[in-house]
Amino acid sequence: MGLDRLWIDPAKVFVGGVWRDAEGKARLPVEDPSTGASVGEIAGGQAADIDAAVAAARASLSGEWGRATAVERGRVLTRIGQLVLERVDDLAAIEAMDVGKPLKQARADAVALARYMEFYGGAADKVMGDTIPYLDGYTVYTLREPHGVTGHIVPWNYPMQIIGRSVGAALAMGNACVLKPAEEACLTALAFAALADEAGLPKSALNVVPGLGEVAGAALSGHAGINHVSFTGSVAVGGLVQAAAAKNVVPVTLELGGKSPQVVFGDVDLEAALPFLVNAGIQNAGQTCSASSRILVEWGRLDEVTERMAERYGALRVGPASADLDVGPLISGRQKEIVTGFIEDGGDLEQAAAGEIVGNAPEGGHYVAPRLFAGVDPAHKLAQQEIFGPVQVVIPFDDEDEAVAIANGTEFGLVASVWSRDGARQMRMAKRLHAGQVFVNNYGAGGGVELPFGGTGKSGHGREKGFEALYGFSSLKTVAAYHG
Ligand code: NAD
Repeated sequence: MGLDRLWIDPAKVFVGGVWRDAEGKARLPVEDPSTGASVGEIAGGQAADIDAAVAAARASLSGEWGRATAVERGRVLTRIGQLVLERVDDLAAIEAMDVGKPLKQARADAVALARYMEFYGGAADKVMGDTIPYLDGYTVYTLREPHGVTGHIVPWNYPMQIIGRSVGAALAMGNACVLKPAEEACLTALAFAALADEAGLPKSALNVVPGLGEVAGAALSGHAGINHVSFTGSVAVGGLVQAAAAKNVVPVTLELGGKSPQVVFGDVDLEAALPFLVNAGIQNAGQTCSASSRILVEWGRLDEVTERMAERYGALRVGPASADLDVGPLISGRQKEIVTGFIEDGGDLEQAAAGEIVGNAPEGGHYVAPRLFAGVDPAHKLAQQEIFGPVQVVIPFDDEDEAVAIANGTEFGLVASVWSRDGARQMRMAKRLHAGQVFVNNYGAGGGVELPFGGTGKSGHGREKGFEALYGFSSLKTVAAYHG
């Protein structure tokens, strides 16, 4: 399962519409996180490959791609979306093997990639400027123009979704892209480039250079030929990327981590809330930037909510991606070490429940049983730091003010939710919570490609998804014409 479903040679970079070796034929191993086994190789892109990719992208802007109308850009994106849909099962199998995510999640990611192409395909010709009433004798209007060459640095946790939202929006606006996928998960990025090529995307409008972050990623973020960088990943690397781009005075979108709370008031409809409370913490083995790792519960319902969540934890099964259970392995041995370290740091806490690793899970896989910790102090390390694994903490609160103080009391601000039947409270909380997205009586809203997404604080800045991303991937020109 996996690599054999890929219809191209994975050990190549895709530059200027050509599949070729990385500089010096450098290669990196592909590991299957479900088994820990090495299953193949990808190209190890070098700075020279990034140079070539940026040059190819630049050239495409004065060629066929640069001349394409908004309607034509929209059509080709829509065609890519159709091809993605035709290959959903292949893409899901490839991703499940490469990232270790259960097949149904991998399939949902592939469908989301198609949906991004449909959305941005449909939106490409609907981005309009304004006319501005001004002094007598003037006609003033604005134009939305592409930045030029955009760099896209993507993490391993949701490669297809993140490529869809960032490359999709950038192409819709007429930018030419250089994509650097994460070294742990490059395969669907390469498959996507092949489908874009097959759909007729002009050569060089999309270039893909797999490679190590500190090599290919660093070369891309600091490249003088790049006009915008979209980065999704950790806070530490986001800071490096922003500093590198600043040297060239290049705008940056940063989508970083989170410690997202769900705030559960005493009047919650618990039956409706329960699946969201747990799934939002363990989906993708908790390796989700918008994972809900903190569950804040009003004292009066604390025991009941904790017990009901614990029941669900008791039923969680962890195993290989192909078994399509609730939770797959973590991406790597290193990630397992980090998450296990956090669980050990929670040794002083009351552990309310744990999931179970199935008996036939392969020995070398990076499995961690999900953990729920109860009655946690909001200042505890497990309640403050992003774990990026299947671990949730339950934190009690007294009243609305305390709930807001705890919810806003980390350095992050990505998403948050409020569970209550009280309409006025829902509105107050939505205003008071520091987050780029707030959900009322749900969590995630199904992930909608239409919904602008991004953070405040250390969760980053700039917005992707929805129409808002099209503004981020373009620059505004004001034209003031004097005609007397
Ligand atoms: P990471 O920052 O280590 O890697 C992300 C990407 O950056 C990879 O492609 C990597 O190769 C590249 N990179 C690494 N070093 C680099 C450097 N010096 N210069 C340029 N690029 C470099 O993050 P990760 O471990 O892959 O992902 C986990 C983190 O990403 C978590 O903190 C998570 O919250 C965050 N994340 C955020 C979102 C979001 O939308 N907000 C989505 C997914 C993941």
